[in-house]
Amino acid sequence: MATARCDDHRPNDSEHVSYALPLGYPSTAVTCDVVGCAMPARLWLTKDERKAFLAGERLFTIGGGVKIRAADDLFPN
Ligand SMILES: [Zn+2]
Repeated sequence: MATARCDDHRPNDSEHVSYALPLGYPSTAVTCDVVGCAMPARLWLTKDERKAFLAGERLFTIGGGVKIRAADDLFPN
């Protein structure tokens, strides 16, 4: 599942392989999911979500069932 993390709290795992930017980033309503952090978040995607992104998907579910709409850029592409 995708995770929302700021630059200071990038996911330190092998599961999240790419990130997309929530619409409007960095002026986005999506904030880092680390407790006590309120920085704007990038949307970190799993391998399967990366494939979906490349196929045109832009809505991704994060913890709690919230969906985030991503812009059209993917990093690294
Ligand atoms: Zn953070």
